Amino acid sequence: MNFKSICLFLSAFFWTQTSMAKVNIVTTTSDLQALATAVGGERVAVDGLIKGSQDPHHLEAKPSFVLKVSHADLLVSNGLGLEAAWLPKVLAGARNKNILPGSLGHFIAAEGITAIDIPLTNVSRADGDVHQEGNPHITLDPERVIIIASALAIRLSELDKDGADYYQQRAGVFVKEITSKIPSWKVRLKATGISKVITYHKTLNYFLTRFQIEPAGYLEPHPGVTPTARHILDTISTAKTGQIKLILVENFFDDTAAKRIAAEAGGIRIKTVPVAVGGEPDIQTFIDLYERIVQAVEGKSS
Ligand SMILES: [Zn+2]
Repeated sequence: MNFKSICLFLSAFFWTQTSMAKVNIVTTTSDLQALATAVGGERVAVDGLIKGSQDPHHLEAKPSFVLKVSHADLLVSNGLGLEAAWLPKVLAGARNKNILPGSLGHFIAAEGITAIDIPLTNVSRADGDVHQEGNPHITLDPERVIIIASALAIRLSELDKDGADYYQQRAGVFVKEITSKIPSWKVRLKATGISKVITYHKTLNYFLTRFQIEPAGYLEPHPGVTPTARHILDTISTAKTGQIKLILVENFFDDTAAKRIAAEAGGIRIKTVPVAVGGEPDIQTFIDLYERIVQAVEGKSS
């Protein structure tokens, strides 16, 4: 093998390696990990920082997060302050200019959707309120997840132009699968006759609003603040006057306050629900997740 053929061999080798290199995606939440995997398929490698069974608001910037983010081609975050307590520290530690906010390598899911529960008065994270930019739990709404999937396919196409058709095709399949389920979820939820529920945190508001169930109260006095004795008494009153039949407790919260309210108000079921993909071992997809919440309202899930 002469010098020229060695060069040709090496350039072919490196071209193959480069062309096969996957887009290295790091997501903050497990929902966004599922979404990036669904849209990115074989052309991406996806790692998520938060488990589906963890409260996403209250985490610390771990060294393992910094290491993962330092190697990412694309960081997919939720936005609306969900990661505000820890992601800025991770970004500072990672020193990866490709994924800083505002760059092509940082996709913020909430940027393309309309938020709900935006506070009318000035609230502060220092007061314990973790929703001062509006409700960040956007991936609990199947319709908003569809919008995010399409936007993510566009972003991936910009980062990996050769994969544009592939990402569009995969996003299309994802959108079609979710869209096909929504009408039956609507029918089943309506058939339960449940029009109001109490939840622990405002995690389920996008889901409930989508399916015309009113979030009538919360066990937390403010988002991110542990239930107080006074607030529990107020919520017992809300449950009685509102004839509440169901309390949904997100599975990373304690259900003691819910039990107290159910005992005092009477006629109330308590259901603990996963609120993220991976929130329980058998919740592997968005359809699994939404299906489980529908079943909880129906009274069918364990
Ligand atoms: Zn929240």
